[in-house]
Amino acid sequence: MNPSDAIPGQVALITGASRGIGLAIARRLGKMGARVSICARDQANLEEAVSGLRAEGSDVLATAADVTREDQISTLVRNTRQNLGPIDILVNNAGIGIFGPFLQQSEADWDAVINTNLKSVFLMSRAVAPEMIQRKSGQIINIGSLAGKNTFANGAIYCASKWGLLGLTGCMAEDLRGHGIRVSAICPGSVHTEFSPHAGKDASKMLQPDDVAHAVATLVTQSPGSFISEVLMRPTQKP
Ligand code: NDP
Repeated sequence: MNPSDAIPGQVALITGASRGIGLAIARRLGKMGARVSICARDQANLEEAVSGLRAEGSDVLATAADVTREDQISTLVRNTRQNLGPIDILVNNAGIGIFGPFLQQSEADWDAVINTNLKSVFLMSRAVAPEMIQRKSGQIINIGSLAGKNTFANGAIYCASKWGLLGLTGCMAEDLRGHGIRVSAICPGSVHTEFSPHAGKDASKMLQPDDVAHAVATLVTQSPGSFISEVLMRPTQKP
């Protein structure tokens, strides 16, 4: 690792980090010297992730929390501050997808996807940003998707959540940049994780979770005067 890529002692909170993209981001930031706080709903998966991260030498704290629940977010943020210190980096990564023709989707599908992918980012950022404002620094990175730029059949609720997320990200960025806080979005195309079946795609040609972690590492090592607001990611070859 290049010394300029180190962020020793910074506290990074990553949501949805028991597997997939979130876990890759936690691993990367941990290797860069950050003190990492992760959450997910399933305690057993979270513990497995923590064991792996600690075995690699990362300083990591895990809290089982559902980011659609404000009470659980309060516990998560308090736990992080008390055990690791003030939060320098928030990565809003937790997300789900429920795909199908919109006429066959239910109100419960809508609530689950919108609450997880969009409302949670509002709630998490509202819980973390006031202290960043006091400290006049911080970085919030929202994991969007190219589905927040495009539309496709069977993607209605997911696309709505990710289009909404980009709107939220841009407005939060404008609200907070005067306080020295950067809010940005990373929008990957399909990534090889358990998230959704990618039928017919060659997994070896897809984006990998580490590719998204690399983009996060780039954002958190910008010079203080630079603000990369949005990153769009595609695989080099079509999978
Ligand atoms: P995975 O399904 O592999 O992992 C999702 C993670 O989020 C898990 O740790 C899961 O743990 C956690 N999670 C889900 N819901 C909640 C919740 N309510 N509260 C807390 N944690 C939660 O997904 P990916 O890693 O693939 O996706 C991560 C992000 O990247 C998502 O926002 C997704 O939309 C986005 N993305 C993914 C792409 C892809 O092709 N994979 C492409 C573009 C963007 P648990 O279930 O235990 O809570």
